[in-house]
Amino acid sequence: MQYKAPRGTQDILPGEVERWQRFEEISRRVLSNYGYREIRTPIFEQKELFLRAVGQETDIVQKEMYCFTDRKERWFALRPEGTAPVIRSYVEHALWKDRPFQKLYYIGPMFRYDRPQKGRYRQFHQVGAEAVGSLEPLVDAEVIATVRQLLEAAGVKKVILKLNSLGDAESRGKYAAALKKYFSGKRESLCPDCRVRLEANPLRILDCKVPECNELSRDIPPMEEYLSPDSLRHYESVQRWLTVSGVSFEKDKNLVRGLDYYTRTAFEFHHGELGASVALGGGGRYDSLVAECGGPDTPAIGFSLGSERVLLAASQDSGGEADDGGAGKKLGLYLAWLGPEACEKALGLAAALRKFIRVEMDLEPRSLKAQLRQANKLEVSHAVILAGDELARDLAQFKEMTTGAQEEIGLANLEEFVKTKLNVG
Ligand code: AMP
Repeated sequence: MQYKAPRGTQDILPGEVERWQRFEEISRRVLSNYGYREIRTPIFEQKELFLRAVGQETDIVQKEMYCFTDRKERWFALRPEGTAPVIRSYVEHALWKDRPFQKLYYIGPMFRYDRPQKGRYRQFHQVGAEAVGSLEPLVDAEVIATVRQLLEAAGVKKVILKLNSLGDAESRGKYAAALKKYFSGKRESLCPDCRVRLEANPLRILDCKVPECNELSRDIPPMEEYLSPDSLRHYESVQRWLTVSGVSFEKDKNLVRGLDYYTRTAFEFHHGELGASVALGGGGRYDSLVAECGGPDTPAIGFSLGSERVLLAASQDSGGEADDGGAGKKLGLYLAWLGPEACEKALGLAAALRKFIRVEMDLEPRSLKAQLRQANKLEVSHAVILAGDELARDLAQFKEMTTGAQEEIGLANLEEFVKTKLNVG
């Protein structure tokens, strides 16, 4: 019996995993430079949290959650997104007491029962961040600028930023009524899900994945016309700050995002490689979520980027070349040995040098020729050969792999010599 990874999941193999590590390193660097600190929450949460936070009528809750009961019949769900868990944790640990304005980020897998296709998986990974505790439009602009900076650092060059405002509860109520009116005449042409949405939550129609429903949504009235004066001022301020920060954007009246908790600012980053219906990432404000999760009334804004999609877009923009983090990564030493005595010496040297650099050595006795062939394959920069007459005279050979140049070194000085040559320690 041969087993396969579950549909919609992927193994990230050596050779590919280096790009992931590099992207995660870049994300950590950029986010901490912007003042974010990492938070790690469990991979599963009470199912109720997502029903409440993400919204009952969203596709995520209706169709895409991996839910299960444990041995005590309690319902849980594998996290489909990162914001609700972060806010649950923020409230549970009263993080506002530590600092009234918190900047938190997370990196990790998410789970959605989606139809697998290019850029869409059932286990995927997100880098996301939340800025909790301010209603300032400048914070919105900074969060968006952070995403752009992160994408740029990850090698994604051609992005389109789409921006909309979903208003506050009052504006949304008015807008929902206007949408209901707009779609009522088109009811029969909507998909069965959207007919239900029309009654329960008309804004969700704008997020439907059925092309006919998208087409019907094209001429909806713009949300902007229904914004309260406060929300409109906020939206205009965000746009002004983005312009001041040199971040270009397109306004998109159909942008609602797939989760119900968003208020006011909503945004998405798109890339040509992925097509218009598949975003690199996005986010927005969620000014009522903290209170809904049992915390004090606290405005917040966040974003998440899909790592698979960012890596796909980055490889497209950099001509398919994976960023291996620079040639420095290849610095490494191969220890070739012949005979038990040489093996002992090699083990000691490897243990000492592995504190500083990558050291490869064969653990099975093989010919020197085979070992040096292996050294080439492993792309190390240098090799040390411990064998034969030389070893009997307490000497070893040090070899520069690119030039083939070789020199003889006394065993007593070997460790220091290697460190100096490789500039480590
Ligand atoms: P969302 O939480 O739906 O706004 O998703 C944020 C980002 O996560 C998206 O823009 C994608 O980059 C990524 N994402 C969401 N769902 C998937 C999926 N099924 N497969 C791969 N990436 C996804």
